[in-house]
Amino acid sequence: MDSTLPSNNSNPHFVFIPFMTPGHLLPMVDMAKLLARRNVKVTIITTPLNSIQFQATIEREIQSGSPIQIELVPFPNAESGIPEGCESVDTLPSMDLAVNFYRALILLKKPLQEVYEKLTPTPSCIISDKIITCVADIADKFKVPRILFDGTNCFHLLCNHYLHVTKAYEAISSKDKFLLPGIPDRIELRRSQLPGIFNPGKNPEWNHYRQQVKESEGRSYGVVVNSFEDLEGVYVKEYERVTGLKVWCIGPVSLSNQDNLDRALRSKRYSNQEDEDGNKYLKWLDSWPSRSVIYVCLGSLTRATTEQLIELGLGLEATNRPFIWVIKGAYKREEMETWLLENGFEERVKERGILIKGWAPQVLILNHEAIGAFLTHCGWNSTLEGISAGVPLVTFPFFAEQFYNEKVVVQLVECGVSVGAESVVHLGEEDECVVQVSRENVKDGIEKVMGEGEECDKIRERAREYGTMAKRAIQQGGSSYCNMTRLIEEIKRLKLSHNS
Ligand code: UDP
Repeated sequence: MDSTLPSNNSNPHFVFIPFMTPGHLLPMVDMAKLLARRNVKVTIITTPLNSIQFQATIEREIQSGSPIQIELVPFPNAESGIPEGCESVDTLPSMDLAVNFYRALILLKKPLQEVYEKLTPTPSCIISDKIITCVADIADKFKVPRILFDGTNCFHLLCNHYLHVTKAYEAISSKDKFLLPGIPDRIELRRSQLPGIFNPGKNPEWNHYRQQVKESEGRSYGVVVNSFEDLEGVYVKEYERVTGLKVWCIGPVSLSNQDNLDRALRSKRYSNQEDEDGNKYLKWLDSWPSRSVIYVCLGSLTRATTEQLIELGLGLEATNRPFIWVIKGAYKREEMETWLLENGFEERVKERGILIKGWAPQVLILNHEAIGAFLTHCGWNSTLEGISAGVPLVTFPFFAEQFYNEKVVVQLVECGVSVGAESVVHLGEEDECVVQVSRENVKDGIEKVMGEGEECDKIRERAREYGTMAKRAIQQGGSSYCNMTRLIEEIKRLKLSHNS
């Protein structure tokens, strides 16, 4: 264990309250582990089915001496209309229920407060996902600082800040490009690529929840960001300056998983998951040369249409390169299975392709020497996990802030290329935008990072350099390591002044 503090009762106690979806839960658990390794007491409060996913990883931390624990609250399935057995956004049977999920979060206030009140020693700080807005009231009631976790990066936060202030997007027609206002670099986006808050989908209830999130943001003590200063230091400083918020940039937190066991445990999602320890995939990867395999995964929530997945598959096939393609289980599974069989795709690629039809040990796979490119939907975790592994990215954003993340990769750090998606595909509205990217675009994007030539070499070189910088950031003395020390010291100071 890497203790910043000696073990004693005056150490701060951090309470983590993660939002229930892998893209928020996994980085918060990683962050909680990093803090507890500094001898800071950490309690993660979550619901039973969510806890099952990270129990093994926390047990491993406890065995190594970390003061970390899990506390449970029941998920209000009946009251919110969410089916029993579902406590996470990515397991919702239909995206129509996403709004019910937000209602469930509001109902969590009472049980969260009951658990919070019983915690010992008295908590010194809450780190909660910004989507769980009811925590603002709990923090106010107990006069404890609430630090927000947003799941994204400062480039996105700063762009959103300026768009709120300037409303520069309002006069732009949907497909037109415009210059993002206020930021230090010249970066253009189409209005159609903006996140839902500036580019709403069909369901008006979302706007109500977005407003609640925005209102509760204003009542927070600061923000922790899963990013690192060598990646976007200018944006971290600018965001701090223009908002006056305290910002602690402490990532990439997935690098808390240093060995293959940690990485496999991080992705242990379902008890019936195929190849739980990832050994089958590692062995297969061992059989390929260094940097030769494409890893393709569109995250935990993306619901690409079958037509779009077919284009993606045929583009992959056309590269003639080895690949691992993660096809998420639930959405339109039968249609996809039928195509895979009837078209003969699986048979044709079986010598050089693995299809994971469900949940993949992503961080484990990405860190294998054989991985040469990552085709990603640009969820921030996936983006950062690819960058941390030193792997060039092929970017195919779908929704939320993913088009901003694409700009980070392609323009700010130049570690990847875009396949050319032009519009956000709102969750639940996938059928309105059946195919955005053709098989030719997929193949071209992959060739631009895996092929021959000076440009490809430069992208690969930069990707390797950013991988090195990412690892340095979280090591002792690195920027994220020092920022975490600052955070601990600040909460310790607050605790002392509160007690005196
Ligand atoms: N992930 C994984 N296996 C999968 C799909 C996703 O381990 O098959 C993890 C991935 O490593 C990342 C998270 O789930 O940490 C997804 O978060 P991200 O922000 O990339 O995208 P989202 O799923 O929120 O759209």
